[in-house]
Formats: sequence, structure tokens, C-alpha cells
Amino acid sequence: MFLARRESVLHAKGWSSTVSVGSVLIFEGLPNHGGRGSPERESEVLLSLVASGLVSLSSWRGRVDRRRPYDDRLQLGVDRLSVACARRGLPAPTGVGDFVWEWCARRPMREWPLVFDPDAQVDGELLLIDSSPSEFCQEWVRASRDVVADVHESALVNHVKDVAKALGRPDLYAHWRMLLTGRTVLSAMEMVQQKNRFLDVPSWAVWLDESYEPVPPESTLNGKIVVCRRCRQWMSPDGDGQWTCPSWRCAAYRFGSVPELKPADGAHRLRADLVGYIALPGRPELEFAEGLAARGARVVMYPGFDALDAVATWPDGYAIGVDVKDWRNPFLLARSIKKFPDWSGKHPYAYSKGFIAVPQDRTRGRDGYLRILRKHSSALHDQPHVQVATVEELIQRCPSLGAPGEVTCGP
Ligand SMILES: [Zn+2]
Repeated sequence: MFLARRESVLHAKGWSSTVSVGSVLIFEGLPNHGGRGSPERESEVLLSLVASGLVSLSSWRGRVDRRRPYDDRLQLGVDRLSVACARRGLPAPTGVGDFVWEWCARRPMREWPLVFDPDAQVDGELLLIDSSPSEFCQEWVRASRDVVADVHESALVNHVKDVAKALGRPDLYAHWRMLLTGRTVLSAMEMVQQKNRFLDVPSWAVWLDESYEPVPPESTLNGKIVVCRRCRQWMSPDGDGQWTCPSWRCAAYRFGSVPELKPADGAHRLRADLVGYIALPGRPELEFAEGLAARGARVVMYPGFDALDAVATWPDGYAIGVDVKDWRNPFLLARSIKKFPDWSGKHPYAYSKGFIAVPQDRTRGRDGYLRILRKHSSALHDQPHVQVATVEELIQRCPSLGAPGEVTCGP
């Protein structure tokens, strides 16, 4: 009933069909507990709506642009929040601007008149931090979408996948993702070398032309491009003229306070949207794969067009299939876990154990992270053979056999 009502509101406001589809997915992605119309369910719908409105207002760097007109989802959020305030006798936001800057940017979730499962751990969270959607805000958006659409919002990602499928070359798709993750800045010479890697596939060079862009002069410092020493990501000056890495991990650990400077002349950098969709999420996956390879495994990345992040096989035949999940909030991660592929017997990627691997720093200071993840994931309930572990724990549990293995992209 509520879904139908909201859909009609969206259509009345002239939203495109894409947005309507997205709004349906917001509902389908929500958990089943609580039931439709329960206070928890209504609160989650409202939070998903507002979070997606805030993210749509921001650029890839995440800063909300005060000059842009507010997204209709925020007005819907204000309307619904006003009802919740009225029920509790609280003053409601006076408009969208007040809502964005006084509520989303300053009021932690515990002060909102909403009800959440305690495992959602929303209490002290803010939706905007320094005018940017917080990680908490972004994960609400990701968790509300269809799982398959998770990191594949970029049209280029879909295009590369489609062409590689048509060519029967899943390894090309995996090579492309690995290159983008590992090399976010290329000198003129490196660009030529990379474009010539697959001369039998003319599309490969076109993909690289579309993935990388010349470094714009306003993003250089004395003719140099500024690169984070830890994650190898290019950096931009912020409003105060400070150079910052877009990775929360680098900011949290204060890595890269002295960045590396590389000549900008003729250099190319990874396109900004692909930094967010591919390079930053891909780092923990690659580092994990390198950890397994150091223990003697042959690690195939993104087998079966991303059916898993990696399948690692040791010389004695032991093999595991792994999805690396780098999420801050386990309650939201729980609903993004998908079904593991059924690869066994003579399948080139046959594995005997499946794992969800979470970087250990995500679980630090988050009470019961892995317990909450197991409790709220229906996909994990349905797949008892899939275990949950931290990345570090899983690497330690794996065999360490003989010479170092390799990280690769095909059978
Ligand atoms: Zn960094």
C-alpha cells in the first residue's frame, strides 16, 4: 500500500522511470523483520530515502553542493519525518534546507524520532560529515539497492563486462579491474604499454582511453600529480588547499601525510567515478589476494564475471572461494551478501569452502560485528557452508605451502 502510494508521488513529480525502478529496489532491499508498516520498517524506508537523496546531491568526492536544487527524495523525507515528529510532539524541520543542515549534518540518529533494531547501531551516526555523505549514509544507499547493482553503477563497467562476455574472455574483464585498482596514475609511456597489452582485442585500448583521463592542470602541484603513498590513489586539493586522499582508511591511519609527487606532463589518471566504483573497493580485495599468494596459492581474481572476488587454489588441491566485504556497518552488509556459485567437481574454479572476509579494522570498535552479520543475513542462513572471518584471520588459517603463488585472471 505504502509502496504504491510513494510510487504515485514519484510519478506525479515527473521522475524518470530509472528513478522509479531505483525506488522499488529501495523497498525490496529492506529486511523482512518488523513487517510492512512496523515502526522499524517505516524508519528504514525513511532513512534509505533521505540517504539516497543526500548521495545524489553530492559529487564523487562526496561534498554536498549547496547551490544545487534539493532532490525530491529529501522533500519526501521531510514530509515523513514531520509526521513522526508530530506523533511525538517534537518540532519538525522547517524545510529541506533546515533538514539537511540542522538534522542530517548536526543531529545524531539517536535524536531522530525513529525506531531501529539495536543491531543497526545507528545511535551516534550522522548522515553528513563536513558537508559530505558519511560512510554510514552511503552504506544505507548501497544496502537498499539490488545486490547485483552494488558496484556496477558505471555504464563503462557494464560495457566492458558485456564485450568481454561476447568475446568469451572473462579474463579481460578481470585484467581491466585489476589494472584500474592497482594503477590509478599512468605516465605517458605506461599508458602506451598498457594499451598494447592485448593487441588481439582492439576494444582493450578503447576501454583504457575511456577509463583514464589527462591530468587537469588544476589538480597538479608545480607540474606534479600528488599520489597517496599507501593506496596509490591520486589526490585533489580540498577547499582549504589541503591535499587529501579519498580513502577513509588512509585518513584514519594518517598514511600519506607526505604524498609522492609524480610528473604530470602527459600523465593520465583514473576517472573519478571509477575511483569510487572500482579502485577504492578493489584495494582490500587485491591486498587479500596477495596475502594468499604469499602462502603459495594461485589466486584467480573476479572469476565468472564477479561471481566471487577470488578463488584460491593450493598445489595440493585445497581451494577456497572468497568475497571480500569492506563495510563499516555489519547490519547493512548482512543484506548485501549474495549466493555463492555452485562450482565443484571438474569446474576450473571448484572450491571446497566459501568465505566472506571482512578487513579486521572494520570489526575493531564495532561490538559484535561478525555476530550481527551472521544473525541478519538470510543468504548466510541459506548457505551454512559459507563462513565469515576477518581477512587477517582467514589468511592465517590457510595453508602455507612451498614457493609463493600468483595473483592472476583466468584458469
Ligand atoms: Zn590513500
